Amino acid sequence: MNLIFFGPPGAGKGTQAKIMEERYGLRQLSTGDMLRSEVEKGSDLGKKAKEIMDSGALVSDDIVIGMIENFMKSPESVKGIIFDGFPRTKTQAQELEKMLAANGKQIDLVLRLDVDHEALVSRIEKRAIEEGRSDDNVETFRKRLDQYNSYSQEVLPYYEEKQIVRAIDGMLDIDRVTSQIEVLLKDTLAA
Ligand code: AMP
Repeated sequence: MNLIFFGPPGAGKGTQAKIMEERYGLRQLSTGDMLRSEVEKGSDLGKKAKEIMDSGALVSDDIVIGMIENFMKSPESVKGIIFDGFPRTKTQAQELEKMLAANGKQIDLVLRLDVDHEALVSRIEKRAIEEGRSDDNVETFRKRLDQYNSYSQEVLPYYEEKQIVRAIDGMLDIDRVTSQIEVLLKDTLAA
């Protein structure tokens, strides 16, 4: 079972992915986390990515697809992957499909977390303070939100065509968001 958590920055994708990891033996794969770890390490890739990330724009497909490819090659055996923050372009979606298909796998479910814009702004402000993330100031956040609006128009139709997109009300408290996700996961597992 492989799924995508699709939602704007601050929608709670990471929080929910961690819960699903624990409960279902799935593995979260967050390209944002991977990129931030490269930035922290000060690697060449990190240096290239930092400025782009700070500006709120998207890192190039080559960089991101390369990271996913490496992860998929790793021998770690998992029951499935939760893609968090990936794919963000149609090219990424197509490449992901190829990589999974090479192992007889596919994306089974895309969970779209719907949240209110103003609620996101306050979540982001809170997280910026807690985590000291340099890309989380409000100005950059608005840019990332604009990015989300535009890349979701590119990526969601790709999966809507496959009829695997399901909406989640991300405005509820964490437990209730989790419950909605679990219902959809169980439906998909039973199908
Ligand atoms: P996130 O934590 O998922 O919001 O990602 C933080 C930043 O990393 C984004 O604003 C982008 O600059 C970059 N990033 C993360 N994932 C991707 C992706 N799939 N494609 C391009 N850039 C990405």
